[in-house]
Formats: sequence, C-alpha cells, structure tokens
Amino acid sequence: MIVFVNGKYLNDNEANINVNDRGYLLADGVYEGFRVYNGKIFKFQEHKQRFQRSLNELKIQYTLKDELETIFENLFEKNSYKNSDELFYYIQITRGVALRDHAFPKEKTKVGIYAFVAKKPLNEKAYNEGLKVCTTPDNRWARCDIKCISLTANCLAKQNALDNGFDDALFVHDGVITEATASNVFFVKDNTIYTHGATNRILSGITRNFVIDLCNENGFKLSEFPLTVDKLKTVDEAFLTGTTLEVTPIVKINNISINEQKVGETTKKLQKLFKEYLQNNFYKKS
Ligand code: PLP
Repeated sequence: MIVFVNGKYLNDNEANINVNDRGYLLADGVYEGFRVYNGKIFKFQEHKQRFQRSLNELKIQYTLKDELETIFENLFEKNSYKNSDELFYYIQITRGVALRDHAFPKEKTKVGIYAFVAKKPLNEKAYNEGLKVCTTPDNRWARCDIKCISLTANCLAKQNALDNGFDDALFVHDGVITEATASNVFFVKDNTIYTHGATNRILSGITRNFVIDLCNENGFKLSEFPLTVDKLKTVDEAFLTGTTLEVTPIVKINNISINEQKVGETTKKLQKLFKEYLQNNFYKKS
C-alpha cells in the first residue's frame, strides 16, 4: 500500500518517521478518519472543520489548506482504488520532531503528517444482526471532544470487551453512558431517541450529527440527553454511529437483551434513510 508521510508517497514498509516525533513519544497529535463512498468523501467539510478544531485545541499551530483533498486524491490514484467502494481515509498531524520534553518545543517545529487510504467495507453481519456490548468505567481524560491520537484507554476497553465475548464497550462516567470505544451510542425509549450531548465527554461524531439531522428532518423525537446505566433495562432499541459503522444496531448490553435481540424498527428506519442519502448523493448517475 502506498502511504503519505511528511511530503512523500512511499510503500508502507519503506515509510518511516523520526523517533523524536512527538506523536511517537508523547501521542502529541490529532487525527481524522473519513469515509469514502464511490470515490467521494462523506461530509468532507465537517471532518475538515473538526480536524482544524482538534489542532487548535492541542495548540498545534497549523492551518489546513487543501492538503486533505490533495493527499486523498493522490493516495486514491496511486493505490488504484478507482474500482473500490467503501474506503477509509486516515490522516494524522503531530506537533513534529523535538527532543523529548513535556513542554512544547521553543522553536517552531514542522508538523508530522501521515496518511493512508484503505479498503474498509461495512461489517454487514453486525449491520444486519446487531452487536453485543458491555459497559465499562469511562477512565479516559476529560477532553474526549478532541480527536487525539492517544487512544490507550479506548484500546484497553475494546480489548477487554473482546476478551469477555463482547463486540465493543460502552463507557460509563458517573453513572451516565457517554459513548463507545470508537463510535457514538443512541438509545430509543418510549418513541424518543436519546444520545449524549456534544460535551467534553464525547467525540462529536460526524455520523452522530448526520443521524441527528436525519431524525430532525424525518419527524423522529430526539433528545441530546444521556441515558444512565440503571435505565438500560428499560430501553427499546440501541445503536452505534460512526464513520465505518453508519447505523449499527446493538442487541445486547451486558446480560440485558435489547428488543429480544432483534434489530428494532426505529433503527431500521434510520438505516434506510442513511442508505437513501448515500444512494442520492454518491451513487446516482446525473
Ligand atoms: N467516538 C469516538 C471515541 C470515536 O473514536 C469516533 C470515531 O472515530 C466516534 C465517536 C464517531 O465519530 P465519527 O462519526 O465522526 O466517525
């Protein structure tokens, strides 16, 4: 696979970075993950805006211009992805190279940029049959709104979930369900759809925000209000949203079956609306 690293397009096994890159030493960087349908990026401007915000919040002095588009187009071309649908475009920017020190380098450093585009089809089984998830204490830092490359707590939670026979984990902070390890979570209860507000406790997902728009445009009652763990037994439906998940149902949480482990009607309607949007915006011949 051809990747992009600091201005060069190289085979991934030939690409390397300086060991003093602060991303490598201190996880001092931010990233974005984009979905590509039929060669076109989903909600590009929204992702770009969030990326710039993450850079600003970490005080990495770098203004995005049109490199996101250029790098994507080149990687798409160089990897001959013309006939591949459902790609994932990853890009990260670190504060750059400096001898290890918590304080930011005094001299302005050149940021480190790494990007790749890979094939990542939707997990059809999970999409159609739903996932089994567990809950886990939200022991992450209090700036989950920044898409920072430091993801150890998320990795640990995901691996613990897998080791215990689940597909993923839902984080719980002070009794409140915040989000999953790499996606946002929604619940349906008494005909209202609930999801955690876009605070510092969650990443404001591009997919989350798109699903909220779908709900508002299509007459679903939606509340950006979090669900507490003690209410889990009372929910009618649950689903995750994320760049590579779209709307993926949850059918079991810990030992609680949701909707008798069947994908619920509201979830199915949102999946359908999502697919219609994709059809109209990415696949329709004009
Ligand atoms: N929450 C976390 C912790 C994530 O890592 C992600 C995606 O990577 C999301 C939510 C979903 O965000 P998006 O819909 O923009 O992919």
